Amino acid sequence: MPKTVHIIGAGLSGLSAAVRLSSAGLAVQVHEATQYAGGRCRSYFDAATNLTIDNGNHLLLSGNHHARAYARAIGTEAGLVGPARAQFPFVDLSTGQRWQLDLGDGRLPTWVFDEARRVPDTGLLDYIKLAPLIWAGAGKLVGDTIPCDGTLYDRLVQPLLLAALNCDPPEGAAGLAGAIVRETLLAGGQACRPLIARDGLSAVLVEPAVKLLEGRGASVRFMHELRSLATSSDRVSELNFGDDRIAIGADDAVVLAVPPRPAVALLPGLKAPTKFRAIVNAHFRFDPPRDAVPILGVVGGLVEWLFAFPQRLSITISNGDRLVDMPREELAQAIWRDVCKAGGVSGDLPPWQIVRERRATFEATPEQNALRPGPVTGLKNLFLAGDWTATGLPATIEGSVRSGDRAADLVLGKASA
Ligand SMILES: Cc1cc2nc3c(=O)[nH]c(=O)nc-3n(C[C@H](O)[C@H](O)[C@H](O)COP(=O)(O)OP(=O)(O)OC[C@H]3O[C@@H](n4cnc5c(N)ncnc54)[C@H](O)[C@@H]3O)c2cc1C
Repeated sequence: MPKTVHIIGAGLSGLSAAVRLSSAGLAVQVHEATQYAGGRCRSYFDAATNLTIDNGNHLLLSGNHHARAYARAIGTEAGLVGPARAQFPFVDLSTGQRWQLDLGDGRLPTWVFDEARRVPDTGLLDYIKLAPLIWAGAGKLVGDTIPCDGTLYDRLVQPLLLAALNCDPPEGAAGLAGAIVRETLLAGGQACRPLIARDGLSAVLVEPAVKLLEGRGASVRFMHELRSLATSSDRVSELNFGDDRIAIGADDAVVLAVPPRPAVALLPGLKAPTKFRAIVNAHFRFDPPRDAVPILGVVGGLVEWLFAFPQRLSITISNGDRLVDMPREELAQAIWRDVCKAGGVSGDLPPWQIVRERRATFEATPEQNALRPGPVTGLKNLFLAGDWTATGLPATIEGSVRSGDRAADLVLGKASA
């Protein structure tokens, strides 16, 4: 077993690896380039709204077992909150129609047989036509695998896959979409309950992990960017942080849990995704109406999901590259119009913030999916983690935590490559 494991990157993949390794009794040192942990999944104080907001609204599902086990390990599983049943209210802004998809709480997708619980104006046959996605090969397109039109597509398949893949579903990798369908819709309502970190991503998924690690004697160093690594024969022998260098002993290991771009800069020749897609989030300081649902699916407009938090309404728009250069005020006004219609509220534009994460996720196309490396490298004591590594899932918290767990298991000798 290694003496010390150095984790590079304090996003969720790095933190989950660190927590697992420290739980196994190993000495852990985390090195993070920025001033904060959490990477693409974090909270911060926003002066424009005078609120602590998340960089993006993150939705988990009850079937995200690794993510929930990670939250359990850091003592915050209760901070992931959601309804008892997997119910998803929706509104179509183009027609004003509202409905609720009720996936129930069972282990089988029996809801498809119940007209009152499935998507309105859809029949059983529409759902059967989705079956090819379940066993689709990694190289196939969603658009070549299932029908990408019609009522079921517009009201369920498109919103679900757009959120999961962060690209227009027909151009997405059918293998990744299939994994989502297998782990959610096919696993029944018990795997589909929506969960959100109501008290904020950092309070629920990030800060408690850092605290736990520090309490166990692990170090988490911020503003400590790995600049390069030296190798000797087939091992990492030194980590270069600019001002300081750390020698890696024969019994030490390294988990590189950084996004693809820095990973490739540190490991020239590494194959990794090269294309990314944006996600746009907007936050409005506004008290949600008493009867506001926590998560509302929105179709037929610009907004895709509306979240109601205390003192705040927030929205998500995936595959948002088309919006990254739009003037901020214009975008805020357009989104607020949708929020008013969807949320049944009115009024002038309240204090707002727009967060455009340009490289929110790698592009979940078959071409980019094929570039994802596994956790094992040519260097015996170096393992990769991150949502962009070959997890079998799109870039999600669940994939990220799974990759961290897997890298930790490889370090511990519990998993084979
Ligand atoms: C706006 C938005 C909305 C999202 N919505 C959802 C959602 O609803 N549901 C869901 O499941 N997922 C969602 N995701 C995806 C999810 O946030 C990511 O999959 C996950 O946070 C990735 O974690 P990671 O550890 O793999 O990478 P990152 O979070 O990118 O962490 C990598 C870390 O490495 C650090 N680093 C980089 N270079 C170095 C270096 N040289 N030395 C040291 N440190 C370095 C970075 O600063 C960063 O902290 C969303 C993402 C975004 C951006």
